[in-house]
This record gives sequence, structure tokens and C-alpha cells, in this order.
Amino acid sequence: MTTLREETKECAVCGNKSIHVEIISTKALGASDLDARPPEPERSTIQNWIQRCPTCGYCAPDIARGDKEMANIIQSSDYRKQLRNPDYPDLANSFLCWTLIQEEETQYKIAGWTAVKAAWACDDAGYLGVAQDCRKRAILLLEMARQKGQWFADNAGTEEALIVDLLRRSGQFESAMQLCEDRLAMKPDTFIRKILNYQKQLIRKGDIDSHSTSEIVGDAG
Ligand SMILES: [Zn+2]
Repeated sequence: MTTLREETKECAVCGNKSIHVEIISTKALGASDLDARPPEPERSTIQNWIQRCPTCGYCAPDIARGDKEMANIIQSSDYRKQLRNPDYPDLANSFLCWTLIQEEETQYKIAGWTAVKAAWACDDAGYLGVAQDCRKRAILLLEMARQKGQWFADNAGTEEALIVDLLRRSGQFESAMQLCEDRLAMKPDTFIRKILNYQKQLIRKGDIDSHSTSEIVGDAG
């Protein structure tokens, strides 16, 4: 179902070569999570979504792409600290380093989504506290994206449904509930309405766990 291939990559920043596993093909079978995390088998390829140069520490989806000017960011103290932050699993550190690069380049949509992926990596490794920090970071970045006119989902309703999930999963229930109410008052399409009503149920229960869109049946109120 998933095809992987080892490839030698020349780092775009330092020029050194290293071997990385690339995804040639994969599929998502079934329903995604409420925060758009794909189902298996694609879900389990997460460790191949980001590469790290073992020489200079450049982290990117493809370290052969980029430019030498990124060395300035990579050598910054914030980046070096994130690269080896013992509070996070290594995979999340790699995603958060790419987040820093994209934030510096004002690509807030990519930065925000990469912080979401860092949260998934934390979830998988059982680092639940810092997973919440990644989600709070993602919310700020995605709000920046919106301010800059960088759409980060198909439409405004889908964007807000994602933000609601990030708020709920980081324990910000009051803000999550308020956003649900605000968006529902704007009469979104049926699918978004069902998602938001389901989120309201989860928020009322104080549920911060991952849930799938497959759990939504009928029009839960
Ligand atoms: Zn490098």
C-alpha cells in the first residue's frame, strides 16, 4: 500500500550528502481525524514527511530544496535550541524547526500546518503536554496566515472547524465553544454543521482526545 525508497540527498544549505527514506506512494483509507490527520496507511508515514541534515541540522520535507541563506536561521539560537529540545520527541523537533524557517519566511500557512504535524508526532510518542503547546502555536500561526490572506483550508468553515479542534485538544474549551457558536450562527454547510455540533458534545465533556470524522452520525446537537 505504501512504497518507500531510500535516496541520497545533497543538503541545499551545507552541501553534505545523507540518506533519507522518501515516500513514493501511499494512500489514505477511511476517515480522517477532526484535525485532518489522515487515516492509515498514510498516517504511519509521518516520520518520512520531514528530513533532517545530520551535518548542519537543516530540517525540511526535502533537504535538497532550499537555499544557503537559510543557514542564518539554522544557526540562530532559537533553531539550535528547538533542534535538540529534550522536552519534545525528535520528530516533533524536526517539524518545529521547519515551522521556524517557514515563519521566518512569512509562510504562515505552511508554518501552521507543520506545527499541527509536530502535535501529531507528540501524540504518537505520548508527549501530551507539549502536543498541546504545538497546537497553541499552530493556532497563532494559522491566525497569522488568515490575516495575511493565506487560506489554510478549502473554505472559512473548514478553517474554523480545524481551529475548534486545535482549541479543544489544547484544553481551551471556552474559546472552542465560542468559535463553534459563532460559526454555527453563520449557517455553514451540513458537513461543517455536523462537525461543529459534534465538537460541542466533546467540549461539554471536557474531551481533549483525538476523534475521527467517522464518529459523526446524524446531526448531533
Ligand atoms: Zn546540511
